Amino acid sequence: MKLVFATHNLNKLKEVQSLVGKDIELLSLTDIGCTEDILEDAATIEGNALLKANYVKDTYGYDCFADDTGLEVKSLNGAPGVFSARYAGEQKSATDNMNKLLIKLATHQDRTARFKTVIAFAKAGNKQTFTGICNGQISKEKIGDGGFGYDPIFLPDGYDATFAQMAMPLKSKISHRGKAMQKFLDFLSEH
Ligand code: IMP
Repeated sequence: MKLVFATHNLNKLKEVQSLVGKDIELLSLTDIGCTEDILEDAATIEGNALLKANYVKDTYGYDCFADDTGLEVKSLNGAPGVFSARYAGEQKSATDNMNKLLIKLATHQDRTARFKTVIAFAKAGNKQTFTGICNGQISKEKIGDGGFGYDPIFLPDGYDATFAQMAMPLKSKISHRGKAMQKFLDFLSEH
């Protein structure tokens, strides 16, 4: 089966490809000739995932799944949440985003946070969403140089390492995206 994964992010593509196995051939947005930035202006993580999947299905005709992720920090009332990518500005810089978050949290004791991923699947006449959550803490400084985004400052519960210090198979097993993908793959195998 061929499926489009609505991303330009090669790190994410690699992570997800390692989860889907050989039976599903993943095509990226670049593979289908979609070079535009799909507008992500919904008010929720679910809304943005649906927006991307529907855009590809409606514009290019391919069955498509899209993910959207937010980092929700408890003592910041859930921020940056749906604004995670642009937290420190339109340049969407991971370093700037992490620095801003570390500064905002400097005066807070509670560093509890969670990553939430929603995967939306758009297929003719069928729209589904699958949610994955990973609970953890925001570290006091950046540690590790693997992964992407907020990985160097996220300590998943039960591990003494940030996502940026983990090998990809371990991160994929316990991560928000890994859990959402597992639900999506279970759905595909049943339908
Ligand atoms: P997007 O939904 O993939 O565009 O991600 C929104 C924001 O969350 C971006 O700043 C990403 O870098 C960040 N992000 C998404 N997934 C992860 C992850 O697995 N680890 C760390 N940061 C992530």
